[in-house]
Amino acid sequence: MRQSRLLIPTLRDEPGEAEIVSHKLMLRAGLIRKVAAGVYTYLPLGLRVIRKVERIIREELNKAGAQEVLMPIASPAELWQETGRWDFYGKELFRLKDRHERDFCLGPTHEEVITDLVRREVRSYRQLPANFYQIQTKFRDEIRPRFGLMRGREFIMKDAYSFDADEAGAAESYRKMYEAYRAIFTRCGLNFRPVEADAGLIGGSSSHEFMVLAETGEEGIAVCDACDYAANVERAEIQPIAQAAGDNIAEKRLVPTPGKKTVEDVTAFLNVPASQLVKTLLYLADGKPVAILVRGDHVVNEIKVKKLLGAVDLAMADPAAVETLTGAPVGFAGPIGLSGVTLLADLSVKDVTHAVVGGNAADRHWVDVSPARDVPLARYADLRNAMAGDPCPRCATPLRIVRGIEVGHVFMLGTKYSEKMKATYLDQQGQEKFIVMGCYGIGVGRTAASSIEQNHDAKGIIWPAPIAPFHVHLLPLMDKSGKVMPATLALEAELEKKGLDVLVDDRDERPGVKFNDADLIGIPYQIVIGEKGLTQSQIELKERRTGTVTKFAPADIALRVAELVQPILQA
Ligand code: ATP
Ligand code: MG
Repeated sequence: MRQSRLLIPTLRDEPGEAEIVSHKLMLRAGLIRKVAAGVYTYLPLGLRVIRKVERIIREELNKAGAQEVLMPIASPAELWQETGRWDFYGKELFRLKDRHERDFCLGPTHEEVITDLVRREVRSYRQLPANFYQIQTKFRDEIRPRFGLMRGREFIMKDAYSFDADEAGAAESYRKMYEAYRAIFTRCGLNFRPVEADAGLIGGSSSHEFMVLAETGEEGIAVCDACDYAANVERAEIQPIAQAAGDNIAEKRLVPTPGKKTVEDVTAFLNVPASQLVKTLLYLADGKPVAILVRGDHVVNEIKVKKLLGAVDLAMADPAAVETLTGAPVGFAGPIGLSGVTLLADLSVKDVTHAVVGGNAADRHWVDVSPARDVPLARYADLRNAMAGDPCPRCATPLRIVRGIEVGHVFMLGTKYSEKMKATYLDQQGQEKFIVMGCYGIGVGRTAASSIEQNHDAKGIIWPAPIAPFHVHLLPLMDKSGKVMPATLALEAELEKKGLDVLVDDRDERPGVKFNDADLIGIPYQIVIGEKGLTQSQIELKERRTGTVTKFAPADIALRVAELVQPILQA
Protein backbone atom coordinates (compact mmCIF):
# COMPACT_ATOMS: atom_id res chain seq x y z
CA MET A 1 0.00 0.00 0.00
CA ARG A 2 1.33 3.42 -0.99
CA GLN A 3 1.41 5.94 1.82
CA SER A 4 0.75 8.79 -0.65
CA ARG A 5 -2.65 7.27 -1.32
CA LEU A 6 -3.72 6.94 2.31
CA LEU A 7 -5.00 9.72 4.53
CA ILE A 8 -2.52 9.58 7.42
CA PRO A 9 -2.61 13.11 8.83
CA THR A 10 0.18 12.92 11.40
CA LEU A 11 0.57 15.81 13.81
CA ARG A 12 3.88 17.08 15.12
CA ASP A 13 2.41 18.75 18.19
CA GLU A 14 0.50 17.30 21.09
CA PRO A 15 -3.23 17.83 20.65
CA GLY A 16 -4.48 19.91 23.56
CA GLU A 17 -7.73 18.02 24.03
CA ALA A 18 -6.11 14.66 24.85
CA GLU A 19 -5.15 13.69 28.40
CA ILE A 20 -3.79 10.17 28.12
CA VAL A 21 -1.07 8.84 25.88
CA SER A 22 -3.22 6.51 23.75
CA HIS A 23 -5.62 9.32 22.90
CA LYS A 24 -2.75 11.70 22.09
CA LEU A 25 -1.00 9.14 19.90
CA MET A 26 -4.19 8.05 18.11
CA LEU A 27 -4.70 11.68 17.11
CA ARG A 28 -1.03 12.37 16.36
CA ALA A 29 -0.52 9.22 14.30
CA GLY A 30 -3.64 10.01 12.27
CA LEU A 31 -5.73 7.03 13.41
CA ILE A 32 -8.89 8.85 14.46
CA ARG A 33 -10.54 12.27 14.30
CA LYS A 34 -13.23 13.59 16.59
CA VAL A 35 -16.67 14.40 15.18
CA ALA A 36 -18.49 15.20 18.44
CA ALA A 37 -17.85 14.42 22.11
CA GLY A 38 -17.21 10.67 22.27
CA VAL A 39 -17.92 10.22 18.56
CA TYR A 40 -15.05 9.52 16.16
CA THR A 41 -14.21 8.78 12.55
CA TYR A 42 -11.69 5.97 12.10
CA LEU A 43 -9.12 6.95 9.47
CA PRO A 44 -7.48 4.27 7.31
CA LEU A 45 -4.73 3.33 9.80
CA GLY A 46 -7.08 3.32 12.77
CA LEU A 47 -9.62 1.21 10.93
CA ARG A 48 -6.96 -1.33 9.97
CA VAL A 49 -6.10 -1.80 13.64
CA ILE A 50 -9.79 -2.16 14.54
CA ARG A 51 -10.25 -4.77 11.80
CA LYS A 52 -7.24 -6.76 13.03
CA VAL A 53 -8.60 -6.86 16.57
CA GLU A 54 -11.96 -7.91 15.15
CA ARG A 55 -10.36 -10.67 13.13
CA ILE A 56 -8.65 -12.13 16.19
CA ILE A 57 -11.96 -11.98 18.08
CA ARG A 58 -13.81 -13.72 15.23
CA GLU A 59 -11.22 -16.48 14.93
CA GLU A 60 -11.24 -17.26 18.64
CA LEU A 61 -15.03 -17.08 19.06
CA ASN A 62 -15.65 -19.24 16.02
CA LYS A 63 -13.18 -21.73 17.47
CA ALA A 64 -15.13 -21.66 20.74
CA GLY A 65 -18.29 -22.59 18.86
CA ALA A 66 -20.04 -19.20 18.80
CA GLN A 67 -21.93 -18.14 15.67
CA GLU A 68 -21.87 -14.65 14.22
CA VAL A 69 -25.05 -12.64 13.67
CA LEU A 70 -25.71 -8.94 13.23
CA MET A 71 -28.54 -7.33 15.12
CA PRO A 72 -29.98 -3.89 14.39
CA ILE A 73 -28.55 -0.82 16.09
CA ALA A 74 -32.06 0.59 16.64
CA SER A 75 -34.44 -1.44 18.77
CA PRO A 76 -38.05 -0.80 19.78
CA ALA A 77 -38.89 0.38 23.30
CA GLU A 78 -41.33 -2.51 23.83
CA LEU A 79 -38.50 -5.03 24.18
CA TRP A 80 -36.78 -2.87 26.78
CA GLN A 81 -40.05 -2.33 28.63
CA GLU A 82 -40.44 -6.09 28.97
CA THR A 83 -37.28 -6.31 31.05
CA GLY A 84 -37.80 -2.97 32.79
CA ARG A 85 -34.58 -1.58 31.37
CA TRP A 86 -36.34 1.17 29.38
CA ASP A 87 -36.63 3.01 32.72
CA PHE A 88 -33.75 1.38 34.57
CA TYR A 89 -31.04 2.26 32.04
CA GLY A 90 -31.49 5.99 32.66
CA LYS A 91 -29.81 8.69 30.64
CA GLU A 92 -27.11 6.47 29.12
CA LEU A 93 -29.76 5.00 26.83
CA PHE A 94 -29.91 6.94 23.57
CA ARG A 95 -33.63 7.28 22.91
CA LEU A 96 -35.35 8.43 19.73
CA LYS A 97 -38.77 8.44 18.10
CA ASP A 98 -39.64 7.36 14.60
CA ARG A 99 -42.00 9.32 12.33
CA HIS A 100 -44.98 7.58 13.95
CA GLU A 101 -43.86 8.76 17.38
CA ARG A 102 -42.85 5.23 18.36
CA ASP A 103 -40.04 4.98 20.88
CA PHE A 104 -36.75 3.39 19.91
CA CYS A 105 -33.29 3.30 21.37
CA LEU A 106 -29.83 2.83 19.96
CA GLY A 107 -28.55 -0.38 21.50
CA PRO A 108 -26.06 0.01 24.35
CA THR A 109 -26.09 -3.81 24.62
CA HIS A 110 -28.40 -6.45 23.13
CA GLU A 111 -29.77 -8.87 25.72
CA GLU A 112 -33.37 -7.91 24.87
CA VAL A 113 -32.99 -8.23 21.11
CA ILE A 114 -31.19 -11.57 21.17
CA THR A 115 -33.51 -13.04 23.81
CA ASP A 116 -36.46 -12.02 21.65
CA LEU A 117 -34.89 -13.89 18.73
CA VAL A 118 -34.16 -16.98 20.78
CA ARG A 119 -37.62 -17.22 22.36
CA ARG A 120 -39.11 -17.23 18.88
CA GLU A 121 -36.68 -19.65 17.27
CA VAL A 122 -35.53 -22.04 19.99
CA ARG A 123 -38.10 -24.53 21.22
CA SER A 124 -36.31 -27.72 22.11
CA TYR A 125 -33.38 -28.84 24.24
CA ARG A 126 -31.96 -30.18 20.96
CA GLN A 127 -31.26 -26.59 19.86
CA LEU A 128 -29.17 -25.87 22.97
CA PRO A 129 -26.53 -24.86 23.79
CA ALA A 130 -26.24 -21.90 21.41
CA ASN A 131 -23.96 -18.90 21.49
CA PHE A 132 -24.51 -15.86 19.24
CA TYR A 133 -22.12 -12.97 18.81
CA GLN A 134 -21.91 -9.79 16.80
CA ILE A 135 -19.38 -7.03 16.27
CA GLN A 136 -21.28 -3.82 16.05
CA THR A 137 -21.57 -0.14 16.85
CA LYS A 138 -23.02 0.60 20.27
CA PHE A 139 -24.38 3.84 21.65
CA ARG A 140 -24.15 4.86 25.28
CA ASP A 141 -24.72 8.48 26.19
CA GLU A 142 -21.88 8.43 28.70
CA ILE A 143 -21.92 11.22 31.27
CA ARG A 144 -18.18 11.81 30.72
CA PRO A 145 -16.99 10.60 27.33
CA ARG A 146 -13.22 10.91 27.36
CA PHE A 147 -9.84 9.48 26.47
CA GLY A 148 -10.75 9.03 22.80
CA LEU A 149 -11.85 5.49 21.97
CA MET A 150 -11.49 4.44 25.62
CA ARG A 151 -14.83 5.90 26.62
CA GLY A 152 -16.80 6.92 23.60
CA ARG A 153 -20.52 7.46 23.23
CA GLU A 154 -20.49 5.58 19.94
CA PHE A 155 -18.09 2.64 19.97
CA ILE A 156 -17.55 -0.79 18.48
CA MET A 157 -18.25 -3.73 20.75
CA LYS A 158 -18.19 -7.46 20.34
CA ASP A 159 -21.12 -8.80 22.31
CA ALA A 160 -22.01 -12.45 22.70
CA TYR A 161 -24.89 -14.26 24.39
CA SER A 162 -24.98 -17.91 25.42
CA PHE A 163 -28.12 -20.00 25.88
CA ASP A 164 -28.10 -23.27 27.80
CA ALA A 165 -30.55 -25.82 29.14
CA ASP A 166 -29.28 -25.67 32.71
CA GLU A 167 -26.83 -24.04 35.12
CA ALA A 168 -24.13 -26.62 34.48
CA GLY A 169 -24.33 -26.00 30.75
CA ALA A 170 -24.25 -22.24 31.31
CA ALA A 171 -21.17 -22.62 33.50
CA GLU A 172 -19.47 -24.55 30.70
CA SER A 173 -20.38 -21.87 28.14
CA TYR A 174 -19.00 -19.25 30.53
CA ARG A 175 -15.78 -21.20 30.95
CA LYS A 176 -15.34 -21.52 27.19
CA MET A 177 -15.83 -17.79 26.69
CA TYR A 178 -13.47 -17.02 29.56
CA GLU A 179 -10.81 -19.13 27.84
CA ALA A 180 -11.57 -17.53 24.45
CA TYR A 181 -11.11 -14.09 26.04
CA ARG A 182 -7.76 -15.16 27.45
CA ALA A 183 -6.70 -16.28 23.98
CA ILE A 184 -7.96 -13.08 22.34
CA PHE A 185 -6.17 -10.68 24.66
CA THR A 186 -3.01 -12.80 24.63
CA ARG A 187 -2.97 -12.72 20.83
CA CYS A 188 -3.50 -8.95 20.90
CA GLY A 189 -0.22 -8.76 22.81
CA LEU A 190 -1.74 -7.28 25.97
CA ASN A 191 -0.57 -7.62 29.55
CA PHE A 192 -3.93 -8.30 31.20
CA ARG A 193 -5.56 -10.01 34.15
CA PRO A 194 -9.06 -11.44 34.64
CA VAL A 195 -10.59 -10.18 37.89
CA GLU A 196 -13.81 -10.76 39.83
CA ALA A 197 -16.32 -8.07 39.00
CA ASP A 198 -19.70 -6.65 39.81
CA ALA A 199 -22.44 -7.42 37.31
CA GLY A 200 -23.60 -3.77 37.09
CA LEU A 201 -26.51 -2.74 34.86
CA ILE A 202 -26.42 -6.04 32.98
CA GLY A 203 -27.13 -8.00 36.15
CA GLY A 204 -26.62 -11.68 36.93
CA SER A 205 -24.79 -13.83 39.42
CA SER A 206 -21.13 -14.12 38.56
CA SER A 207 -18.84 -12.05 36.44
CA HIS A 208 -15.23 -11.36 35.53
CA GLU A 209 -13.61 -8.36 33.93
CA PHE A 210 -10.53 -8.61 31.76
CA MET A 211 -8.28 -5.79 32.83
CA VAL A 212 -5.34 -4.43 30.88
CA LEU A 213 -2.82 -3.32 33.46
CA ALA A 214 -2.00 0.37 32.95
CA GLU A 215 -1.41 3.38 35.18
CA THR A 216 -4.03 5.37 33.29
CA GLY A 217 -6.73 2.75 33.91
CA GLU A 218 -10.01 4.01 35.32
CA GLU A 219 -10.50 0.87 37.40
CA GLY A 220 -8.77 -0.07 40.62
CA ILE A 221 -7.97 -3.74 41.06
CA ALA A 222 -7.34 -5.35 44.42
CA VAL A 223 -4.79 -8.15 44.02
CA CYS A 224 -3.49 -10.65 46.51
CA ASP A 225 0.06 -11.82 45.89
CA ALA A 226 -0.35 -14.81 48.19
CA CYS A 227 -3.46 -16.57 46.83
CA ASP A 228 -4.04 -15.14 43.34
CA TYR A 229 -7.30 -13.41 44.33
CA ALA A 230 -8.00 -10.39 42.11
CA ALA A 231 -11.13 -8.27 42.08
CA ASN A 232 -12.32 -4.88 41.01
CA VAL A 233 -12.09 -2.63 44.09
CA GLU A 234 -15.80 -2.04 43.65
CA ARG A 235 -16.43 -5.69 44.06
CA ALA A 236 -13.79 -6.81 46.60
CA GLU A 237 -15.35 -7.72 49.92
CA ILE A 238 -13.74 -6.11 52.91
CA GLN A 239 -13.42 -7.90 56.20
CA PRO A 240 -13.53 -5.52 59.15
CA ILE A 241 -10.02 -4.95 60.45
CA ALA A 242 -9.85 -5.51 64.17
CA GLN A 243 -8.66 -2.26 65.68
CA ALA A 244 -7.24 -1.73 69.11
CA ALA A 245 -9.99 -0.11 71.17
CA GLY A 246 -8.56 3.28 72.05
CA ASP A 247 -9.39 5.50 74.99
CA ASN A 248 -12.67 6.96 73.90
CA ILE A 249 -14.21 8.34 77.02
CA ALA A 250 -13.80 12.03 76.29
CA GLU A 251 -17.07 13.87 75.66
CA LYS A 252 -17.64 15.15 72.15
CA ARG A 253 -17.06 18.88 71.62
CA LEU A 254 -18.13 21.31 68.88
CA VAL A 255 -15.14 23.32 67.63
CA PRO A 256 -14.76 26.10 65.06
CA THR A 257 -13.32 25.07 61.68
CA PRO A 258 -13.58 28.32 59.70
CA GLY A 259 -13.83 27.67 55.97
CA LYS A 260 -12.45 24.13 56.37
CA LYS A 261 -14.60 21.97 54.10
CA THR A 262 -12.45 19.24 52.61
CA VAL A 263 -10.89 16.23 54.32
CA GLU A 264 -7.46 17.74 53.65
CA ASP A 265 -8.36 21.14 55.09
CA VAL A 266 -10.14 19.86 58.21
CA THR A 267 -7.52 17.25 59.10
CA ALA A 268 -4.65 19.72 58.53
CA PHE A 269 -6.42 22.35 60.63
CA LEU A 270 -7.18 19.95 63.51
CA ASN A 271 -3.90 18.10 63.06
CA VAL A 272 -5.41 14.61 62.85
CA PRO A 273 -4.91 11.85 60.22
CA ALA A 274 -7.59 11.40 57.51
CA SER A 275 -8.49 8.05 59.08
CA GLN A 276 -9.72 9.89 62.18
CA LEU A 277 -12.19 12.00 60.24
CA VAL A 278 -15.56 10.47 59.38
CA LYS A 279 -17.08 11.93 56.20
CA THR A 280 -20.85 12.25 55.96
CA LEU A 281 -21.93 12.03 52.34
CA LEU A 282 -25.52 12.79 51.41
CA TYR A 283 -27.17 10.87 48.62
CA LEU A 284 -30.63 10.41 47.21
CA ALA A 285 -31.49 6.72 46.84
CA ASP A 286 -34.53 6.49 44.54
CA GLY A 287 -35.26 10.04 45.69
CA LYS A 288 -34.98 9.35 49.44
CA PRO A 289 -32.21 11.00 51.46
CA VAL A 290 -29.43 8.78 52.79
CA ALA A 291 -26.31 9.79 54.70
CA ILE A 292 -23.28 7.53 54.31
CA LEU A 293 -20.45 7.65 56.80
CA VAL A 294 -16.98 6.54 55.73
CA ARG A 295 -13.54 7.33 57.03
CA GLY A 296 -11.74 10.30 55.47
CA ASP A 297 -9.23 7.97 53.83
CA HIS A 298 -11.92 5.69 52.36
CA VAL A 299 -14.10 5.89 49.25
CA VAL A 300 -17.83 5.12 49.29
CA ASN A 301 -18.75 2.19 47.10
CA GLU A 302 -22.02 3.16 45.49
CA ILE A 303 -22.64 -0.35 44.20
CA LYS A 304 -22.51 -1.80 47.71
CA VAL A 305 -24.80 0.98 48.97
CA LYS A 306 -27.32 0.34 46.21
CA LYS A 307 -27.31 -3.37 46.94
CA LEU A 308 -27.82 -2.82 50.67
CA LEU A 309 -30.75 -0.47 50.06
CA GLY A 310 -32.15 -2.37 47.09
CA ALA A 311 -32.10 0.99 45.30
CA VAL A 312 -32.23 1.41 41.54
CA ASP A 313 -30.84 4.93 41.45
CA LEU A 314 -28.25 6.49 43.72
CA ALA A 315 -27.10 10.07 43.18
CA MET A 316 -25.16 12.50 45.34
CA ALA A 317 -27.40 15.20 46.76
CA ASP A 318 -26.77 18.61 45.22
CA PRO A 319 -25.53 21.49 47.43
CA ALA A 320 -29.04 22.93 47.89
CA ALA A 321 -30.38 19.56 49.05
CA VAL A 322 -27.41 19.11 51.41
CA GLU A 323 -28.17 22.49 52.96
CA THR A 324 -31.86 21.68 53.40
CA LEU A 325 -31.09 18.29 54.96
CA THR A 326 -28.27 19.34 57.30
CA GLY A 327 -28.85 23.06 57.81
CA ALA A 328 -25.24 23.66 56.82
CA PRO A 329 -23.33 24.33 53.61
CA VAL A 330 -21.53 21.45 51.87
CA GLY A 331 -18.46 20.45 53.86
CA PHE A 332 -20.03 20.55 57.31
CA ALA A 333 -22.57 17.70 57.16
CA GLY A 334 -22.43 15.31 60.10
CA PRO A 335 -24.46 12.46 61.63
CA ILE A 336 -25.16 14.06 65.01
CA GLY A 337 -28.63 15.51 65.20
CA LEU A 338 -29.36 14.64 61.60
CA SER A 339 -33.01 13.66 61.21
CA GLY A 340 -35.23 12.47 58.40
CA VAL A 341 -32.26 10.79 56.74
CA THR A 342 -31.35 7.08 56.63
CA LEU A 343 -27.96 6.73 58.29
CA LEU A 344 -25.54 4.12 56.94
CA ALA A 345 -21.97 3.69 58.11
CA ASP A 346 -19.07 1.65 56.85
CA LEU A 347 -17.87 -1.08 59.22
CA SER A 348 -14.56 0.66 59.82
CA VAL A 349 -16.30 3.78 61.17
CA LYS A 350 -17.41 1.98 64.33
CA ASP A 351 -13.89 1.71 65.71
CA VAL A 352 -12.65 5.23 65.02
CA THR A 353 -11.64 6.80 68.31
CA HIS A 354 -11.75 10.56 68.87
CA ALA A 355 -13.50 10.90 65.53
CA VAL A 356 -14.03 14.24 63.81
CA VAL A 357 -17.42 14.73 62.09
CA GLY A 358 -19.23 17.69 60.52
CA GLY A 359 -21.22 19.90 62.91
CA ASN A 360 -24.30 20.49 60.72
CA ALA A 361 -23.53 24.17 61.10
CA ALA A 362 -21.31 26.39 58.99
CA ASP A 363 -17.66 26.39 60.13
CA ARG A 364 -18.18 23.81 62.87
CA HIS A 365 -17.01 20.21 63.42
CA TRP A 366 -17.45 17.83 66.32
CA VAL A 367 -14.28 16.29 67.78
CA ASP A 368 -13.81 13.43 70.26
CA VAL A 369 -16.80 11.65 68.79
CA SER A 370 -17.27 7.95 69.50
CA PRO A 371 -19.45 6.67 66.63
CA ALA A 372 -20.76 3.68 68.60
CA ARG A 373 -21.80 5.97 71.46
CA ASP A 374 -22.73 9.19 69.66
CA VAL A 375 -24.27 7.86 66.44
CA PRO A 376 -26.29 4.94 67.79
CA LEU A 377 -28.82 4.79 64.96
CA ALA A 378 -26.41 4.14 62.12
CA ARG A 379 -26.65 0.83 60.28
CA TYR A 380 -23.17 -0.64 59.77
CA ALA A 381 -22.14 -2.57 56.64
CA ASP A 382 -19.31 -3.00 54.14
CA LEU A 383 -19.85 0.16 52.09
CA ARG A 384 -16.47 1.19 50.78
CA ASN A 385 -13.95 0.36 48.07
CA ALA A 386 -11.06 -1.89 48.99
CA MET A 387 -7.74 -0.16 49.38
CA ALA A 388 -4.10 -1.17 49.66
CA GLY A 389 -3.45 -3.06 52.89
CA ASP A 390 -7.01 -4.33 53.35
CA PRO A 391 -6.96 -8.06 54.11
CA CYS A 392 -7.58 -10.44 51.22
CA PRO A 393 -11.09 -11.93 51.65
CA ARG A 394 -9.69 -15.39 50.89
CA CYS A 395 -6.44 -15.52 52.84
CA ALA A 396 -6.16 -12.22 54.79
CA THR A 397 -2.83 -11.22 53.20
CA PRO A 398 -2.73 -7.43 52.70
CA LEU A 399 -4.06 -6.54 49.24
CA ARG A 400 -2.21 -4.48 46.67
CA ILE A 401 -4.08 -2.04 44.42
CA VAL A 402 -3.16 -1.70 40.76
CA ARG A 403 -4.83 0.24 37.95
CA GLY A 404 -6.55 -1.41 35.03
CA ILE A 405 -8.53 -0.76 31.86
CA GLU A 406 -11.59 -2.97 31.45
CA VAL A 407 -11.41 -4.36 27.92
CA GLY A 408 -13.75 -7.30 28.36
CA HIS A 409 -16.50 -8.44 30.67
CA VAL A 410 -18.15 -11.86 31.01
CA PHE A 411 -21.39 -12.37 32.94
CA MET A 412 -23.34 -15.38 34.10
CA LEU A 413 -26.90 -14.13 33.72
CA GLY A 414 -28.92 -17.12 34.87
CA THR A 415 -32.60 -16.71 34.00
CA LYS A 416 -32.82 -12.97 34.65
CA TYR A 417 -33.75 -12.15 31.04
CA SER A 418 -35.32 -15.44 30.01
CA GLU A 419 -37.85 -15.23 32.86
CA LYS A 420 -38.79 -11.63 32.12
CA MET A 421 -39.08 -12.31 28.40
CA LYS A 422 -40.41 -15.85 28.69
CA ALA A 423 -37.64 -17.51 26.73
CA THR A 424 -38.28 -21.19 27.36
CA TYR A 425 -37.56 -24.57 25.81
CA LEU A 426 -38.98 -28.07 26.17
CA ASP A 427 -36.66 -30.50 27.94
CA GLN A 428 -36.33 -34.22 27.22
CA GLN A 429 -39.41 -34.95 29.32
CA GLY A 430 -41.38 -32.35 27.40
CA GLN A 431 -41.37 -29.93 30.32
CA GLU A 432 -41.11 -26.20 29.72
CA LYS A 433 -37.98 -24.63 31.30
CA PHE A 434 -36.34 -21.23 31.26
CA ILE A 435 -33.19 -20.96 29.18
CA VAL A 436 -30.06 -20.14 31.22
CA MET A 437 -28.04 -17.30 29.77
CA GLY A 438 -24.61 -15.70 29.81
CA CYS A 439 -23.35 -12.55 28.09
CA TYR A 440 -19.91 -11.42 27.07
CA GLY A 441 -18.55 -8.07 25.84
CA ILE A 442 -15.29 -6.76 24.42
CA GLY A 443 -14.62 -3.10 23.63
CA VAL A 444 -12.84 -3.26 20.28
CA GLY A 445 -11.65 0.36 20.18
CA ARG A 446 -10.80 0.25 23.86
CA THR A 447 -8.66 -2.82 23.24
CA ALA A 448 -6.72 -0.98 20.52
CA ALA A 449 -6.29 2.09 22.75
CA SER A 450 -5.16 -0.11 25.68
CA SER A 451 -2.49 -1.62 23.49
CA ILE A 452 -1.07 1.86 22.91
CA GLU A 453 -1.12 2.56 26.66
CA GLN A 454 1.15 -0.47 27.08
CA ASN A 455 3.20 -0.13 23.91
CA HIS A 456 4.67 3.28 23.19
CA ASP A 457 7.75 5.42 23.77
CA ALA A 458 8.61 9.10 23.43
CA LYS A 459 8.59 8.82 19.64
CA GLY A 460 5.20 7.19 19.23
CA ILE A 461 3.27 3.95 19.08
CA ILE A 462 4.91 0.49 19.07
CA TRP A 463 2.27 -1.89 17.70
CA PRO A 464 2.43 -5.58 18.55
CA ALA A 465 2.53 -7.27 15.10
CA PRO A 466 -0.86 -9.06 15.38
CA ILE A 467 -2.84 -5.81 15.58
CA ALA A 468 -0.44 -3.46 13.78
CA PRO A 469 -2.02 -1.60 10.82
CA PHE A 470 0.84 -2.97 8.70
CA HIS A 471 3.65 -5.35 9.59
CA VAL A 472 6.43 -3.71 7.60
CA HIS A 473 7.06 -0.08 6.72
CA LEU A 474 9.28 0.44 3.68
CA LEU A 475 11.14 3.73 3.70
CA PRO A 476 12.74 4.44 0.33
CA LEU A 477 15.11 7.41 0.49
CA MET A 478 16.38 9.86 -2.21
CA ASP A 479 16.17 8.24 -5.61
CA LYS A 480 18.55 10.04 -7.97
CA SER A 481 19.59 6.87 -9.72
CA GLY A 482 16.00 5.75 -10.28
CA LYS A 483 16.81 2.37 -8.71
CA VAL A 484 15.43 2.86 -5.23
CA MET A 485 11.71 2.89 -6.02
CA PRO A 486 11.77 -0.21 -8.27
CA ALA A 487 13.77 -2.10 -5.62
CA THR A 488 11.27 -0.98 -2.98
CA LEU A 489 8.24 -2.07 -4.97
CA ALA A 490 9.85 -5.41 -5.72
CA LEU A 491 10.45 -5.92 -2.01
CA GLU A 492 6.85 -4.90 -1.26
CA ALA A 493 5.57 -7.54 -3.68
CA GLU A 494 7.83 -10.17 -2.21
CA LEU A 495 6.75 -9.42 1.37
CA GLU A 496 3.09 -9.38 0.42
CA LYS A 497 3.52 -12.76 -1.22
CA LYS A 498 4.65 -14.02 2.17
CA GLY A 499 1.40 -12.79 3.68
CA LEU A 500 2.70 -9.59 5.25
CA ASP A 501 0.97 -6.20 5.19
CA VAL A 502 3.32 -3.58 3.80
CA LEU A 503 3.16 0.21 3.79
CA VAL A 504 5.49 2.04 1.39
CA ASP A 505 6.38 5.62 2.23
CA ASP A 506 6.50 6.80 -1.35
CA ARG A 507 6.03 10.44 -0.36
CA ASP A 508 8.45 13.03 -1.62
CA GLU A 509 9.67 13.86 1.87
CA ARG A 510 13.05 14.30 3.55
CA PRO A 511 14.42 11.19 5.33
CA GLY A 512 13.99 12.87 8.73
CA VAL A 513 10.28 13.40 8.12
CA LYS A 514 9.84 9.81 7.00
CA PHE A 515 11.73 8.41 10.00
CA ASN A 516 9.76 10.51 12.48
CA ASP A 517 6.42 9.58 10.97
CA ALA A 518 7.39 5.91 10.86
CA ASP A 519 8.30 5.93 14.54
CA LEU A 520 5.08 7.78 15.38
CA ILE A 521 2.85 5.38 13.44
CA GLY A 522 4.65 2.48 15.04
CA ILE A 523 4.67 -0.29 12.46
CA PRO A 524 6.82 -3.00 14.08
CA TYR A 525 9.46 -3.34 11.32
CA GLN A 526 10.96 -0.56 9.22
CA ILE A 527 13.12 -1.22 6.20
CA VAL A 528 15.24 1.64 4.91
CA ILE A 529 16.12 1.43 1.24
CA GLY A 530 18.71 3.90 -0.03
CA GLU A 531 21.01 4.25 -3.02
CA LYS A 532 24.11 3.59 -1.00
CA GLY A 533 22.67 0.44 0.54
CA LEU A 534 21.61 -0.90 -2.84
CA THR A 535 25.03 -0.38 -4.41
CA GLN A 536 26.63 -2.04 -1.37
CA SER A 537 23.96 -4.76 -1.42
CA GLN A 538 22.83 -3.86 2.08
CA ILE A 539 19.35 -3.06 3.32
CA GLU A 540 18.67 -1.90 6.88
CA LEU A 541 15.96 -3.48 8.99
CA LYS A 542 14.98 -1.56 12.11
CA GLU A 543 12.88 -3.08 14.83
CA ARG A 544 10.62 -0.31 16.09
CA ARG A 545 10.47 -1.58 19.69
CA THR A 546 14.19 -1.90 20.35
CA GLY A 547 15.56 0.38 17.68
CA THR A 548 17.95 -2.43 16.74
CA VAL A 549 19.23 -2.11 13.18
CA THR A 550 20.35 -5.19 11.24
CA LYS A 551 21.76 -5.18 7.72
CA PHE A 552 20.75 -7.77 5.15
CA ALA A 553 21.48 -8.49 1.53
CA PRO A 554 18.47 -7.44 -0.61
CA ALA A 555 17.93 -11.03 -1.65
CA ASP A 556 17.56 -12.21 1.97
CA ILE A 557 15.59 -9.52 3.62
CA ALA A 558 12.03 -10.57 2.73
CA LEU A 559 12.60 -14.04 4.08
CA ARG A 560 14.23 -12.78 7.26
CA VAL A 561 11.39 -10.36 8.02
CA ALA A 562 8.79 -13.03 7.31
CA GLU A 563 10.61 -15.34 9.74
CA LEU A 564 10.30 -12.67 12.40
CA VAL A 565 6.66 -11.77 11.85
CA GLN A 566 4.92 -14.99 10.84
CA PRO A 567 5.33 -16.88 14.14
CA ILE A 568 3.79 -13.92 16.01
CA LEU A 569 0.78 -13.90 13.72
CA GLN A 570 0.06 -17.57 14.06
CA ALA A 571 -2.43 -18.32 16.80
P1 ATP B 1 -17.36 0.79 31.99
O1 ATP B 1 -17.45 0.37 33.43
O2 ATP B 1 -15.98 1.10 31.53
O3 ATP B 1 -18.36 1.84 31.63
P2 ATP B 1 -19.16 -1.28 31.33
O4 ATP B 1 -19.08 -2.16 32.51
O5 ATP B 1 -20.27 -0.33 31.20
O6 ATP B 1 -17.77 -0.50 31.15
P3 ATP B 1 -19.90 -3.46 29.59
O7 ATP B 1 -21.34 -3.13 29.63
O8 ATP B 1 -19.41 -4.65 30.29
O9 ATP B 1 -19.05 -2.17 30.02
O10 ATP B 1 -19.45 -3.48 28.05
C1 ATP B 1 -18.54 -4.44 27.51
C2 ATP B 1 -17.25 -3.80 27.06
O11 ATP B 1 -17.48 -2.70 26.19
C3 ATP B 1 -16.43 -3.22 28.18
O12 ATP B 1 -15.64 -4.22 28.79
C4 ATP B 1 -15.57 -2.20 27.46
O13 ATP B 1 -14.42 -2.81 26.91
C5 ATP B 1 -16.47 -1.73 26.34
N1 ATP B 1 -17.07 -0.43 26.64
C6 ATP B 1 -18.05 -0.15 27.51
N2 ATP B 1 -18.37 1.15 27.50
C7 ATP B 1 -17.56 1.72 26.57
C8 ATP B 1 -17.41 3.04 26.08
N3 ATP B 1 -18.16 4.03 26.52
N4 ATP B 1 -16.47 3.27 25.12
C9 ATP B 1 -15.70 2.27 24.65
N5 ATP B 1 -15.80 1.00 25.07
C10 ATP B 1 -16.72 0.72 26.02
MG1 MG C 1 -20.33 1.71 31.40
